[in-house]
Amino acid sequence: MTFDLTPTVAQHDLARRVHEFAQDRIRPVAAHYDRTQEFPWPVLEEAAERGFYSPLFYRDLIGDPTGLSIPMFMEELFWGCAGIGLAIVMPALALSAMGQAASPEQLLQWAPECFGTPGDLKLAALAISEPEGGSDVRNLRTRAIRDGDDWIIEGHKMWIGNGGIADVHVVNAVVDEELGHRGQALFVVPGGTPGLELVRKLDKLGCRASHTAELKLDRVRVPRDHLLGGEAKLDHKLAAARAAAHDGHRAASATLGTFEQTRPFVAAQALGIARAALEYMTAYANHREAFGAPIIDHQGIAFPIADLATRIDAARLLTWRASWMAANGVPFERGEGSMAKLAASEVAVQTTERAIQTLGGWGYITDHPVEKWYRDAKLYTIFEGTSEIQRMVIAGALGAAEGKPPLHVELQPSGGAWNKMFGRGTERRTKAASAALLMKDRVPDPLRRAAMKILRPPR
Ligand SMILES: Cc1cc2nc3c(=O)[nH]c(=O)nc-3n(C[C@H](O)[C@H](O)[C@H](O)COP(=O)(O)OP(=O)(O)OC[C@H]3O[C@@H](n4cnc5c(N)ncnc54)[C@H](O)[C@@H]3O)c2cc1C
Repeated sequence: MTFDLTPTVAQHDLARRVHEFAQDRIRPVAAHYDRTQEFPWPVLEEAAERGFYSPLFYRDLIGDPTGLSIPMFMEELFWGCAGIGLAIVMPALALSAMGQAASPEQLLQWAPECFGTPGDLKLAALAISEPEGGSDVRNLRTRAIRDGDDWIIEGHKMWIGNGGIADVHVVNAVVDEELGHRGQALFVVPGGTPGLELVRKLDKLGCRASHTAELKLDRVRVPRDHLLGGEAKLDHKLAAARAAAHDGHRAASATLGTFEQTRPFVAAQALGIARAALEYMTAYANHREAFGAPIIDHQGIAFPIADLATRIDAARLLTWRASWMAANGVPFERGEGSMAKLAASEVAVQTTERAIQTLGGWGYITDHPVEKWYRDAKLYTIFEGTSEIQRMVIAGALGAAEGKPPLHVELQPSGGAWNKMFGRGTERRTKAASAALLMKDRVPDPLRRAAMKILRPPR
């Protein structure tokens, strides 16, 4: 599958349907949920009725080899409201982590439990971060110990989306202390399991429609089969990590791998906020007059808008590329997932801040949505890896990829033998074209046209 920016008919239709949903159902209630911090159940119900809240929907989108479906969906949804968007897609983030670790049987068992069905919705949470360690996953202190036919999980989790109210919590815990973050595993902890305590719902700056919580796991007991991937796979993974540690190699961390995969989703969410703010401030600047002209006629207003539009498009291209790479199993050898997340989250903050400036005093009060978008956007430089962590990942990856050519040179080429011989830029083609040009006045028109057809570059 080559990287192609042309959407399929289904993708086009999806973007239109999500946009309508965001415009008609999300935007009108966004300020209410931002103010009250209530969980937006009615909007989730409607999302489910429209097919945007189901495991198969997200598996389909994530598996789409064009890579475009998931970022197109996320951008439109989060254009409506990032807080409500997070409430809707939180189970998909948990499902994505589960998808990387779970056996097919476990996925079949737990994926429906993450979403439920219209009229009987369920929630899911992904619980990784802890009070002492968000960025530094080596610092995670939640432990899981085997006890007969069960696992006992003990620990403290912080900033967990849907934490404590979810039907399914995907929780990571250290199972081998010596291996540190390479000795971690993911467990399913169903809501209501004794010992799983919602300490408090967190009072946030932005994305306030989403529920974020502090959790305690006080000797939470789950059956053996709640270990995602099963024990044989875990033993194998731990043995590989031990061997790698012994040989001084780096072994992959499941926790970090989870975040790498979801970075393009999250980047697309930030783009939704950025685009909302860009559109809003552009429309405002077109109509607001100062010193006898629409303020967009002043370069001080117009140039930042132009710069931000350029940066948003650049971030979108990075996001679509990363999503295409993830869907096609192309590894992020230069931190491409992190590049997308970094660029998109930073441009979301810059654009929303600029939107406030463009609206002046009106931007600073709640009559317009730009102050909310600014508060929402700020989350994106923090969660799923802060901007500093993305820079560390990119720099580390660049160091490891030293001497390699750029990605587009390294990728497996497409096209057949005819393309290799006579494709654009080949020596044969250039020589033939030059010879044809020299003869152009001596060859009759129909013959020249026929030759031009033959000379058309093969794919
Ligand atoms: C609203 C919200 C929702 C969230 N949802 C979830 C969720 O559902 N599940 C979940 O597991 N987690 C979630 N998180 C947690 C989030 O992923 C962490 O907050 C994030 O990873 C940062 O960790 P930290 O807060 O511990 O900051 P720290 O790791 O303590 O970092 C503090 C600062 O130091 C910087 N820093 C750290 N190390 C370095 C370094 N080596 N070099 C340079 N700078 C560095 C960081 O970039 C940051 O600026 C959420 C957070 C928020 C705010």
